[in-house]
Amino acid sequence: MQYISTRDTGATPASFTDILLGGLAPDGGLYLPVEYPQLTDATLTHWRQVLNTEGYHALAAEVLQLFVDDIPAEDLKAITARAYSYPKFASEDIVPVTELEPGLLIGHLSEGPTAAFKDMAMQLLGELFEYELARRGEHLTIVGATSGDTGSSAEYAMRGRAGIKVFMLTPAGRMTPFQQAQMFGLDDENIVNIALDGVFDDCQDVVKAISADAAFKSEHRIGAVNSINWARLMAQVVYYVSSWIRATETNDQKVSFCVPTGNFGDICAGHIARQMGLPIDRLIVATNENDVLDEFFRTGDYRVRSSSDTYETSSPSMDISRASNFERFVFDLLGRDAERTADLFGIKVRQGGFSLRDDPAFADAADRYGFASGKSIHADRVATIREVNEKLGVLLDPHTADGVKVARSLAPEIDTPIICLETALPVKFAETIAEATGSEPEIPARFEGIMEAERHVLDLPNDAEAVKALIRERA
Ligand SMILES: *Cc1c(COP(=O)(O)O)cnc(C)c1O
Repeated sequence: MQYISTRDTGATPASFTDILLGGLAPDGGLYLPVEYPQLTDATLTHWRQVLNTEGYHALAAEVLQLFVDDIPAEDLKAITARAYSYPKFASEDIVPVTELEPGLLIGHLSEGPTAAFKDMAMQLLGELFEYELARRGEHLTIVGATSGDTGSSAEYAMRGRAGIKVFMLTPAGRMTPFQQAQMFGLDDENIVNIALDGVFDDCQDVVKAISADAAFKSEHRIGAVNSINWARLMAQVVYYVSSWIRATETNDQKVSFCVPTGNFGDICAGHIARQMGLPIDRLIVATNENDVLDEFFRTGDYRVRSSSDTYETSSPSMDISRASNFERFVFDLLGRDAERTADLFGIKVRQGGFSLRDDPAFADAADRYGFASGKSIHADRVATIREVNEKLGVLLDPHTADGVKVARSLAPEIDTPIICLETALPVKFAETIAEATGSEPEIPARFEGIMEAERHVLDLPNDAEAVKALIRERA
């Protein structure tokens, strides 16, 4: 399988391992396969059997083989077996599917080491990075900024790995107590936590400033693990397949997915699975108060917000002003017109956005690609957590609650069972849970003692030069 950029300007397609360690394509676009592999009925039947007899990791190897032709199949199998193992994931199913109420299921994506859906991709990324760096005799310095889930998930995936060093910037004092405990509790030689005297945007600006210093970047082999990395999306396609298998008995049964959405990464993998021919009916985008995407799917207008117009909400991992993976979907929606995609995302988005309201392609978003959308605000989230806890005895995290709220509101128009993807465990967001239910969530056994562990974090001023000095010193 070869890969092209969404802004492809005639460049030669690249292979999987060539794009694995990079970020954006040189033309500023995002990588996608030249074409989506097509699933036959026989493949689906075979995969059903693989999942049921050998488990999630074996299914993952089958799916990945369709996208990766420059890693031997045997190695890929070993890689997925290491990435998706029990008890590293708290469930032997890796992604269990349970029924919340008739017609509404939950796909549990938070069984991984940091109790967030990002582990689904990061655990694979850690294995792939270590494998490929060793094969090439290279090393990598990952510099990232996080306001919560991404940083801890990346650190748990990269800890102790040969050839990889991680410097993670966090806004001092602004993550939840559990998130801080998770990250700062790590005591690995290759993981460096930095508490920057600033907000999340300052952290991102420092990362950008470091990447913009070309000499420093190449000298220290600076890389990223951001959500536009193709391998993360590819990893996520697997749980759409496994969840569909677990929710159906025969291949003619369809399901819909409802996905709490921020950067459009999680649901973009659903789009890819659907394009491959997985029997998916609707793909429902659930946003919080930051409703850039809900607005697009309702009106055709994509109006990116400035960071000062981005609300801080009680489902913080969905607080985005622009959705970095959205470009991939729009590229497909526009019939893979790279020139138009380059204009929309390279130019128009910088000027505030664009409208497809009057474009015939916009109707295709719902009719041809199955998209629907809805929005959930703080009061909805809290009411949903409370009601589901009281009536059904299930505790939802705030992001998943947004998904459940939107899924329930659209369910009357949808004829298929809806699988709502759970993106985090409640323990990560204790304050909102306490507001909804009157008591703090229990800490699952696997995280016991985490709040008391010694903290490893360096305080630095909001200054890229100070961070660079630290990287030089620790490299
Ligand atoms: C990252 C994240 C999301 C949003 O996922 P995207 O891929 O950015 O759409 C939702 N919920 C939680 C808990 C997350 O960590």
